[in-house]
Amino acid sequence: MAARTGDELYDWKRAALIVGAALAPDVDLLFRFVDGRNHHNNETHSIGAAILAGALAAVVLRALHFARAGALAFATSVSWTTHVVLDYLNRDTNPPIGLMALWPLSADHYKVPWPIFLDIGRKLDGETLVRNLVAAAWEGVLLVPLLWAALRYRSLRLTGE
Ligand SMILES: [Zn+2]
Repeated sequence: MAARTGDELYDWKRAALIVGAALAPDVDLLFRFVDGRNHHNNETHSIGAAILAGALAAVVLRALHFARAGALAFATSVSWTTHVVLDYLNRDTNPPIGLMALWPLSADHYKVPWPIFLDIGRKLDGETLVRNLVAAAWEGVLLVPLLWAALRYRSLRLTGE
């Protein structure tokens, strides 16, 4: 096994930040354990939260002297925004319906009129688990080809073919 280089370690940290930013909006699911109410799709599912995440990343990355901290902070905001956009495309049957997408400019919830992803259940029973597995499989059917195309495009750019 080859020794890891500094660049590989840097890429691992960068990838972890981007993936973490894409997953972070769902931290609001944990708030249910505080008061029993559904907080999903509120402030964390907004463009404002994505901008705040990027700003926070910029401050922390600059303090840690990361190379290209500004670009990585911008990527953090974009990654956070992909979560908001993908959740916006969900069928939503869990009140509050829709996303607080324009927070802090608006506290209204917005919902796509033609959802392409299936509803995700929030219960911990077998029926909901099966329904969520079907929803995840459908998301894979739609998104894996996009991921493949992105990786192929990157590979072609890196090799110059
Ligand atoms: Zn979400």
